Amino acid sequence: MTATNAATMAAVLGMPDPVAYLDHAATTPLRPEARAAMLPWLGERFGNPSGAHGVARAARTAIDEARDVVAGALGCAPTEVVFTSGGTEADNLALQGVVAARPGPVVVTAVEHHAVMHPWEHVGGRTVPVDARGVVDIDALTAVLKELPDTTLVSVMAANNEVGVVQPLAEVTRVVRRIAPGAVIHTDAVQAAAWLDVADLAAGADLIAISGHKVGGPQGVGALVVRRGTPIRPSMLGGGQERELRSGTHNVAGIVGLAAALAAKADHREAEAKHVAALRDRLADGLLALIPDARETAVAAGQGARGRDHLLPGTLHLTIAGIESEALLFLLDEARVCASAASACASGAQEASHVLAAIGVPVTTTAGALRLSLGWTSTDGDVDRVLDVLPAAVARLRSAPSARTAP
Ligand code: PLP
Repeated sequence: MTATNAATMAAVLGMPDPVAYLDHAATTPLRPEARAAMLPWLGERFGNPSGAHGVARAARTAIDEARDVVAGALGCAPTEVVFTSGGTEADNLALQGVVAARPGPVVVTAVEHHAVMHPWEHVGGRTVPVDARGVVDIDALTAVLKELPDTTLVSVMAANNEVGVVQPLAEVTRVVRRIAPGAVIHTDAVQAAAWLDVADLAAGADLIAISGHKVGGPQGVGALVVRRGTPIRPSMLGGGQERELRSGTHNVAGIVGLAAALAAKADHREAEAKHVAALRDRLADGLLALIPDARETAVAAGQGARGRDHLLPGTLHLTIAGIESEALLFLLDEARVCASAASACASGAQEASHVLAAIGVPVTTTAGALRLSLGWTSTDGDVDRVLDVLPAAVARLRSAPSARTAP
């Protein structure tokens, strides 16, 4: 059924319009393959994989098989996969665990996710700037590493969650290995894993963090690849279930779902990336034409789709002058369009984005930040709906007496 047919059918049945979901970077729907793999583990199969009897052994086998799949997808040995409760725990384990094993400064880019930024603030070190396209400044990284040759860990995300910039990890790895050969390299591949071949992209990294719910798996599960020989201590103590690096009874359904999602993702990656990039480009070009004073973040003006080569296929980030994101998101939500300003704090309120500040987006326009992120379920109908609703919502806000600044 096409999206238009779905909408018509919904109207005939007196149901509310279907939602146009453009917040896949926040979480993407569970893939049917993941759901099917998980269901038995939410029902008749329930063993604790650490036990010794048959029911437990069956759960252990499921974890072992999932581990093989995840290792294949991430390009590591099965023994190098540490299952966690998600991307946040994987990032925390990476930064805090390495510093606990080998104290020293940690170097991160200025655009890392809070799951890296906050542990980094805790352990200390330096940040490296990015350019106007959001790409890490390799000369600045070189200079920082020369200044801090005892750097213990360098963390550069594979792709950014707010604006979608993919970082040149191979180049980063070359620089780190040359200038600070003792440093451990960590990459947060939570967003990248939804679109890119992480095994290839992060081949040079010692630590790789991923999360289930960004790749079509469930929420509350993730993994950290810890390559053999990497100095690291556990951040959570207990039964030592994951190679003594992570304790806690395994989330069997979650782990099985994560593996199934990664396998499905690998099967569909290329086709989905092409399809979604075309949708994103149509959406971007349409909105830029329809909304005066809307700017695409991290993209040089006037280059069209070519200017987006360094972005994940599903991400479109805009700043829209003369409006506030919160008010816009409210109107979009009313029109059943789900989007995000990409930098909400846990309370749901918007907070200033350190990513936009690092990219040099003028503070006068960051108030009107909007992230539209597409994913594996996105359709032409979603794009049509946003093209229909968003320019009108912006015009309405701009004409409201309370509009803060003229566009
Ligand atoms: N890192 C990045 C880049 C993310 O986008 C996210 C989630 O938004 C995380 C880490 C945290 O992952 P999780 O939600 O699984 O804790």
